[in-house]
Amino acid sequence: MPAQKHMAVVGGGIAGLSAALALGRTGNDLQVFEKASEISEIGAGIGLGPNAMRVLQEWGVRQTLLELGCVPQQLIARDAGNGCVISQLPMGQSFIDSYGAPYVTLHRADLQQVLLSAVKQQTSASLLTRHTLAAVKLSEHWMDLKFQDSIENHQAQVLIGADGLHSAVRSAVFGHHAPVASGHWAYRALLPMREVPQDVRQIHIGIWMGRRLHVVHYPVRGGDALNLVVLLESHDSATQPGWDVSRSTEQITADLKLAMHKSCTELQDLINAAQGWRAWCLFDREPLQRASQMAQGRVALLGDAAHPMLPYLAQGAGMAIEDAACLAMHWQNKSLTVEQRLLNYAQSRWQRVSRVQQRARRNGNIFHAHGWFKIARDAAMKIGGARLMDLPWLYGHQLNLTAIESDF
Ligand SMILES: Cc1cc2nc3c(=O)[nH]c(=O)nc-3n(C[C@H](O)[C@H](O)[C@H](O)COP(=O)(O)OP(=O)(O)OC[C@H]3O[C@@H](n4cnc5c(N)ncnc54)[C@H](O)[C@@H]3O)c2cc1C
Repeated sequence: MPAQKHMAVVGGGIAGLSAALALGRTGNDLQVFEKASEISEIGAGIGLGPNAMRVLQEWGVRQTLLELGCVPQQLIARDAGNGCVISQLPMGQSFIDSYGAPYVTLHRADLQQVLLSAVKQQTSASLLTRHTLAAVKLSEHWMDLKFQDSIENHQAQVLIGADGLHSAVRSAVFGHHAPVASGHWAYRALLPMREVPQDVRQIHIGIWMGRRLHVVHYPVRGGDALNLVVLLESHDSATQPGWDVSRSTEQITADLKLAMHKSCTELQDLINAAQGWRAWCLFDREPLQRASQMAQGRVALLGDAAHPMLPYLAQGAGMAIEDAACLAMHWQNKSLTVEQRLLNYAQSRWQRVSRVQQRARRNGNIFHAHGWFKIARDAAMKIGGARLMDLPWLYGHQLNLTAIESDF
């Protein structure tokens, strides 16, 4: 007799843990399957907008996140070539006043651990590591889940795919379509704040825009470390996501040296202060076009499994957290069938995440502008200032239960 649970969540990343927390804390019986041997994250930072922080606040983890992270006081956009400030956006208290929650920057491992602890404390969800979903067999009432290297089958009535970019749930139920390799690479490093050049040590988010590249940095771990990311356009697209795919340490150093050679000394000093660089090839998918790309029958997708995006709006995890909260809200509506509740979730979400995917791509073009486009961008940012950089539609978004007419 296969092990049966009402609800199965595949993937124990930010989306999977958020789904387990949101659904589990309202009393749902669920099981999380994660392919890794432990639920953990690599050493890099993550920024959470007030839209995600409001949800995390609702889940009771705001204070812990604030203690582990940082609240940047402003975002400063500069020209990577000459170091001049192009525009600034006040964040800190100004975001709390406008959006009811701060923008918080964190180490990913801290976010992951906070979510994991909350799942353990607030829910009865069981977490099974070393479980790589290999196949899904749909039948009328139960779905059979088959895992690699396991003779034991599991069954679930509802399946939540939170298994990231190359989602096995997505391939099995929604059809296999390869994600888009953008040709953009993220080079990431984390350095102790004491090793950071003095002028970058303030608690702010820095973004330096150059020709076909940009650099982002922000403090994490209460200001003890700086997360530094160099984003480059390259002709070399990896076909698989992952750390250091087709990039040796020597190549990473050479790539950074070549890319940054026209940058101002201040930025070069910052890049040179960091060690242990790792490279990550960036993928996304075409922006969602309909609700049926997020839910079909008794299966729903969340996070990168549903809508991977370029990190140029810093919202992939934010959207996963919103997805989870929205799914749990619709799930509460017990007067509807399972299928209708999942459909309502998808109806509530697809247009928003589609817009975020589109804006993330557009930001890449804006950040990496050169020639006349750069001149126009800088002029607009100087005149528009904070008004142009603030995003009320994104940060002020309120999740609601209103289901839009079905587009099936
Ligand atoms: C450079 C960079 C910077 C970013 N910065 C930000 C930021 O500042 N703010 C922000 O909000 N977002 C940011 N993002 C995006 C964010 O990291 C992702 O959107 C988010 O981590 C997606 O979470 P996820 O849980 O959906 O997917 P993943 O993190 O990929 O998790 C999927 C999980 O599923 C597991 N899994 C996969 N396949 C299977 C299987 N077959 N069976 C069982 N388990 C499986 C994996 O092991 C993994 O644990 C950034 C991304 C990048 C690349």
